[in-house]
Amino acid sequence: MQEPKKRQIAILGSTGSIGTQALDVIAAHSDLFEARVLTANNRVEELIEQARRFVPAAVVIANDAHYERVSDALDDLPIQVYAGPEALCEVVQGGEIDMVLTAMVGFAGLAPTIAAIKARKAIALANKETMVVAGELVNNLCNEYRVPILPVDSEHSAIFQSLMGENSPIEKIILTASGGPFRTFTLGQLAEVTPEQALRHPNWDMGAKITIDSATMMNKGFEVIEAKWLFGVAPEKIQVVVHPQSVVHSAVQFEDGAVKAQLGVPDMRVPIQLAFSFPHRLGSDFERLDWWQMPALTFEAPDPERFRCLALAYESLHQGGNMPCIVNAANEIVNRAFLEGRCRFLQMAEVIEQTMQQTSFIKEPTYEDYVATDAEARRIAAEALKRV
Ligand code: NAD
Ligand code: MG
Repeated sequence: MQEPKKRQIAILGSTGSIGTQALDVIAAHSDLFEARVLTANNRVEELIEQARRFVPAAVVIANDAHYERVSDALDDLPIQVYAGPEALCEVVQGGEIDMVLTAMVGFAGLAPTIAAIKARKAIALANKETMVVAGELVNNLCNEYRVPILPVDSEHSAIFQSLMGENSPIEKIILTASGGPFRTFTLGQLAEVTPEQALRHPNWDMGAKITIDSATMMNKGFEVIEAKWLFGVAPEKIQVVVHPQSVVHSAVQFEDGAVKAQLGVPDMRVPIQLAFSFPHRLGSDFERLDWWQMPALTFEAPDPERFRCLALAYESLHQGGNMPCIVNAANEIVNRAFLEGRCRFLQMAEVIEQTMQQTSFIKEPTYEDYVATDAEARRIAAEALKRV
């Protein structure tokens, strides 16, 4: 008897927080899923170890300085080794691939995501920056090539799950936010916080970039933009609600006032596994909610004055065009600068705001415009950084 074909998954960014958890899911369901492609940027030894364990058809090391090390280490296995950013775009088009998990960080995820859509691969979307930068373009391509996007971001997976079985209009999306490590800090305290403090997220263990974005709440601003494009909902209908326990992962309110939410222990493997197995659910040994031990669930309004990045993200959505792309590029610059001690916490929003004012605005950007905008905004943000 012929074995049923396993779903072939390409993981862009397999050595990261999402990537390694995706490999846990694949290992736990090796009868259903296979890692077809693994890619990393700099974590060479982890990539080699993963490749030796999962024996994918291909690996890509995006930083080509590491090509020889990877290729030598996998010499004895039937694995194609490629290097460089262009290879990411080529490798996702491979004929056998069913689904591409976009788990790399930042604007760099846009080009390979577009290449995967054009090759008609289903997208499991973790790289939210893709939707922030070019949500409209990505949606148009998905319609043209009839490609589904399965959200991996926990809030968007919760919204997606709340919409399963529904075909009535959405009245409102309730997008929950933990509030990050500085939820209760005053502006005076925020001025003094260090990268080490910002990297200690209360509920989620994630990559450094998104952890800093969570501390500034830019992450939540990006998620509002992501929700707009994924679910076709106007920004006024997306309400951010701070919920420090991260048990309610997000919710949808319908026109009769009914609210459907998805709850659970914070664990990214749940949305990753659902994106892989959709339209089915699979079993898991992940931790279950314990209703008797559960902390009291609380909800509060976000404060856009202390968390200016959230307000700037909303502002970019109202302006539209390439403005969210500008915010994303400036944010990538200040995020890294803060991590490296070259910028104070509250200066991040200042630099982003200046970059928004100084970068050329384009009302209806093409792909090439986004690439040019990203480069221009990074340059302007780097200059602004020197002045603050
Ligand atoms: P991470 O830093 O832990 O891992 C990033 C991965 O991408 C690594 O494998 C790295 O080698 C690769 N990579 C980074 N830059 C690259 C580049 N320029 N070219 C090629 N490869 C590159 O990040 P993460 O926390 O796993 O986040 C990945 C994406 O998922 C981000 O867009 C993030 O916003 C999103 N996300 C993450 C979480 C989470 O829990 N970690 C939750 C929701 C959404
Ligand atoms: Mg999220």
